[in-house]
Formats: sequence, structure tokens, C-alpha cells
Amino acid sequence: MDEQKIPYKIYLDESEIPSKWYNVRADMKNKPAPLLNPGTLKPMTAEELAPVFCEELVAQELNDTDAYIDIPEEIQNFYKMYRPSPLIRAYFLEKALDTPAKIYYKFEGNNTSGSHKLNSAIAQAYYAKKQGLKGVTTETGAGQWGTALSMACSYFGLDCKVYMVKVSYEQKPFRREVMRTYGASVTPSPSTTTNIGKKILADHPGTTGSLGCAISEAVEVATTTEGYRYVLGSVLNQVLLHQSVIGLEAKAAMDKFGIKPDIIIGCAGGGSNLGGLISPFMGEKLRGEADYRFIAVEPASCPSFTRGKFAYDFCDTGMVCPLAKMYTLGSGFIPSANHAGGLRYHGMSSTLSQLYHDGFMEATSVEQTSVFEAAEKFARVEGILPAPESSHAIRVAIDEALKCKETGEEKTILFGLTGTGYFDMVAYEKYNDGVMTDYIPTDADLEKGFAGLPKIDL
Ligand SMILES: *Cc1c(COP(=O)(O)O)cnc(C)c1O
Repeated sequence: MDEQKIPYKIYLDESEIPSKWYNVRADMKNKPAPLLNPGTLKPMTAEELAPVFCEELVAQELNDTDAYIDIPEEIQNFYKMYRPSPLIRAYFLEKALDTPAKIYYKFEGNNTSGSHKLNSAIAQAYYAKKQGLKGVTTETGAGQWGTALSMACSYFGLDCKVYMVKVSYEQKPFRREVMRTYGASVTPSPSTTTNIGKKILADHPGTTGSLGCAISEAVEVATTTEGYRYVLGSVLNQVLLHQSVIGLEAKAAMDKFGIKPDIIIGCAGGGSNLGGLISPFMGEKLRGEADYRFIAVEPASCPSFTRGKFAYDFCDTGMVCPLAKMYTLGSGFIPSANHAGGLRYHGMSSTLSQLYHDGFMEATSVEQTSVFEAAEKFARVEGILPAPESSHAIRVAIDEALKCKETGEEKTILFGLTGTGYFDMVAYEKYNDGVMTDYIPTDADLEKGFAGLPKIDL
């Protein structure tokens, strides 16, 4: 195909929104390790998971054999409100970098929640509604997941209780108001509304909170309140499944123009956007049909893949959730409050962890000032104000494109632009004022987290 004919934006037709999610676990030879019951250390059964999660979501969580799972029509209809999302050729960025590389990004920030999280929030709310529940509880860090879930719950008339990491609750009052506008109740975590919150506050007075704490609180409320279940915005297999809509659309759009990416890059917090973006491409790699380089980008301040341990760990600080085998910094690890925005979770999707462990994927970490430098460059030439999380992927996409400039290689790079950064202006302000700093935990800092890993002999 003649290069010039590739449009700035490749849109799919509404009818081309996927009608099935793709479950990459079906094509993995080494399946991700099962969730374990923290009491018995046996794999969690559907019955054991049912008090915490919605039934159909439990089935999806445990399903590692069906490659395709139907997207219910009501979810497909909701997707039509803001999907298909555009695949954009970054012609302006390429020109600014003077690189022979061809750069594409899949933009998921085109909905009010401002990120890809709505793709899974609407699915989880749908299954809760279908089960006849009154409402759901959840945690939110930077606020995107809580916002997405509050939108999804209001669509289905479900109550939504959000535990928001205290530091974000205080730094991002407008996020909170968006959630309240959609009808959610928002509590800063740790709080005195739960037993685990009270305990964490007693043990760590003055703590600014963490996702792990907020998860413990949300799970406690869900399991002790009639008609409620807990939902999670990342990390779990079911969330990666829902997010596969990103990769399926990206691949369909690229296939239309015969484009094959060499490198696929995504930021990694709990792994859901990255997992969703790469899934169909990874499927081809696993089946031996094509080869791609996949790069997970994480913050140097919370380096689960690059400096973590591949081990069974608790998903939450209160140690009430099942154990997951994943790359982890330990459930007691609390990242520096200095680090802006999301990507602060101590662990990583067990599916991506297994793929990384088996050598199907690479990972790298980047420091936040260099992330904001990339964000600013991108905003100035491509127009979109990127979320700090997404900008981790931008950083590495730019670095790979600059390598192509040196070698003269015309590589095709695809990255996930997961969201917009309008609620992150305090961080942008710090960067603009030249007072943003980088924080890299020392080995001794990390050892403290590892010391809290459960001692399990399997
Ligand atoms: C939540 C979020 C992320 C990170 O979460 P993953 O589950 O790793 O995808 C990245 N970008 C944005 C904009 C987010 O809101």
C-alpha cells in the first residue's frame, strides 16, 4: 500500500465493533497460575469466589480454554456510544522526531471517564445487574476506574460505592465530583467505615493510602452487605478479557491497510490496557503465526515487572483477597506519594506475568520527569493532552522511534494511548514549574515489601 494513502485516523465502522472478546489464555501453553484460597492454599473454586464476585465474571475469571466469548448485545450497544475508538497515525510526531519509524496509537480517551476503563466497567456492571444485585463496591487510585464504574452503574441503575486512595481523593477533588455526578458515593481510603480501614489507620497513622488498602475496604463492604459484590478495574483475567476489544479493533483497523506492527507498547499498572491491546497479536505469536515485540512500560517508582518477584502474593494490603501468582513488590509496598497518577499497584496481571516469565514480552521502567517530557512533546504536536499513565508508553514509543532514526530502520510502532490527563494538572503544574522529582526505591526499600510475601511452598 502506498504510504501516503494511510489516513491520519483509521476508524472502523460501527458494525465492526467486535461481537466477541478474545481470551488469550486459551492460546497459552503455560496457563497463568490459579488464584489460591489464602486459608487452604488450594485453587479458588467458583463457589468460593461467588460471595465476592458476580457469577458470570467468576466463570470468565476461571475460563482459560474458550478463545472467544460473546459480548452481550447490551454491552455492544453501550460500546457504540464511544467506540470504535480511533487508531491514529502519528504523522506529526514522526515529523517532529524526524524518524523513519511509522507510529500509530490507539486512543481510548474519547469518553467522559477519559480512559479505557469503561470497556470493562460496563461489562462488570452488566453482569451485576443481570444477577439482580443492588450495587457494587470498588477501589480507585487516580480516579479513572471509579469514574468509569460510576458511569456504568448509573446506566444500569446500580448503586456504586467507591473507596478512593486518600492521596488522590485530596489531590483530585474534581474526579470525585464526576463520580458523585454519576451517583456514586466516594470514601477516602483508608477510612473508619471498615474494620480493615481502622486497623490500617491504627498501624500506619497519617498514611496516604494505597490501592491495596482501598481494595481491602471495598471487599469487606461487598462481602458484608446484602446484594453487593466487589468489582476490580484491572489485574484480573476477566478485565484483560474485556479490554481485548482494544486490540481486536486495533488489529482490524491495521489489517484494513495491510499494516503489521513490529513493536507494540503499552503502559502497565495492573496490566489491563496492555493485555487488552496485545491480546490478539500475542495470540498470533503464541500460535506461531506472526512475531511481534511487546514492551510493557512501568514507572521506575513502582517497578513490579523489572524489579519485582514472580511469586504468589496477596492482591490487597489487608490480605483478605485470594493469592495471585504474579510479578509483585509485595502487598505491603506503598509507592512514593511523589509519583503522579496511576500505575501504582504492587502487583501485575497473572496472565501478563506468565507471558513475561516465559519470554513472550519485554518490560522496561521509566522515570516520571522523562515521562512528562514525552507527554509535553506529544501534546504539542499531536494535540491530545495525554494521561501521565499513557505517557509512559509515549516515552518508550519515542525512544524506539529515535533508535530507528539512528539505524535508518522503518519500523512500525503501535502504542496504547489509554487516556487524557485533564485531571492531572497538579502533576503537569509541577513539571511546568520544574519542581517534579524522580523517586526510585532502593533495593532496601524493595526488600521490605518482599519480606511480607507469604511463605508458600508449592
Ligand atoms: C488505569 C489506567 C492505566 C493503567 O491500568 P492498566 O490496568 O495497567 O491498564 C493506564 N492508563 C490510564 C489512562 C488509566 O486510567
